[in-house]
Amino acid sequence: MDDLSEAYDPNQRVAECPDEDASNLSRIEVDFAIPVYVTREQSRRLGNLIEEITKSPWNEPKEGVHWLASVGSKPKFSQADALFLGKAPDPNAPLDGEPEFDHDVLHFETFAREFVATRERDRVLRQREGLGLCSDCNEPQFMTPSGPTCKNGHGGAPTK
Ligand SMILES: [Zn+2]
Repeated sequence: MDDLSEAYDPNQRVAECPDEDASNLSRIEVDFAIPVYVTREQSRRLGNLIEEITKSPWNEPKEGVHWLASVGSKPKFSQADALFLGKAPDPNAPLDGEPEFDHDVLHFETFAREFVATRERDRVLRQREGLGLCSDCNEPQFMTPSGPTCKNGHGGAPTK
């Protein structure tokens, strides 16, 4: 198999971000002043927005994939697990053992990696080429679980 990892640079993206004033972030945090109830519908919309951000062409590595990999209670990993996962270990965490979950915190996490096989690369590149500009507003389309859409939310519009 070809070594695909050589071409992988997470900073090389499928497209340039069209918004010059876009924030460049590695995480989004919300501290609520008092505990809040989040409805299933609100939670679903929040997840969709995060998925949309993740799958935007300017947030997808050109030679790899980026996806929303986990949604749920925030895991607290042991120091051994954190090292294994390539995360900064929490000095207050136990040295090893099963992760614990903080049920007060809704946690989203994305993963990104290089293409692992030429077949995967071919499939993803074909899929990306199939996505053109939105027929309603001419913005670039990107893939969501419910099909191609644009940043204005025109769902499933035919590609040009
Ligand atoms: Zn549109």
